[in-house]
Amino acid sequence: MSARSIGLTDALYDYLLRNSLREPAVLAELRAETAAMPDGGMQISPEQGQFMRLLVRLTGARRCVEVGTFTGYSALSVALALPDDGRLVCCDVSEDFTSVARRYWAKAGVADKVELRLAPALESLDALIKEGGAGQYDLAFVDADKKNYDGYYERCLTLLRAGGLLLVDNVLWDGAVADPKNNDKQTIAIRRLNAKMQQDERIDVSMLPVGDGLTLARKR
Ligand code: CA
Repeated sequence: MSARSIGLTDALYDYLLRNSLREPAVLAELRAETAAMPDGGMQISPEQGQFMRLLVRLTGARRCVEVGTFTGYSALSVALALPDDGRLVCCDVSEDFTSVARRYWAKAGVADKVELRLAPALESLDALIKEGGAGQYDLAFVDADKKNYDGYYERCLTLLRAGGLLLVDNVLWDGAVADPKNNDKQTIAIRRLNAKMQQDERIDVSMLPVGDGLTLARKR
């Protein structure tokens, strides 16, 4: 016993899933299809998807933005939790991966809640700001290429209303952030943003060992 977050053994992780996971069939199907694809490991874990659905409901979010959609598991999780008039803007560059996502959004009956923008995400986020989106979003999820994390963070912070929730994924980066010998560009970018967010007076913040590390920040 110790007063710190724990690492999960396989047996304990299995217990967690068996005693908490509620995964709608359409999400389970998408997860299985994605897992069989190259890069399938990039999709978020099912318990993280469930946590995000809970966060959407807890915050009463109606307007959301996602940076990095891949095959759409996190977006489908958010869209399923949104009210009927809720909207999610998804930013990604891959036609291939997002074609899987679109197929499942349609299958789940949430396609009309999701707007996919296929362009470099910095451009899409700048366009949203230009279109009057600043201060209009309730929830943002950042999970794209790590080198641009700071740029995504700043833009999402602009898009969020005061009290809005920002989620940043992969903040523990499979442990690489704590390995001083690891200085690849992605690791450095994540480390920099983690350090910046800890000190950032514009947000309330908490870094959680969910999935590959998930930071929650509330815009002040
Ligand atoms: Ca991720």
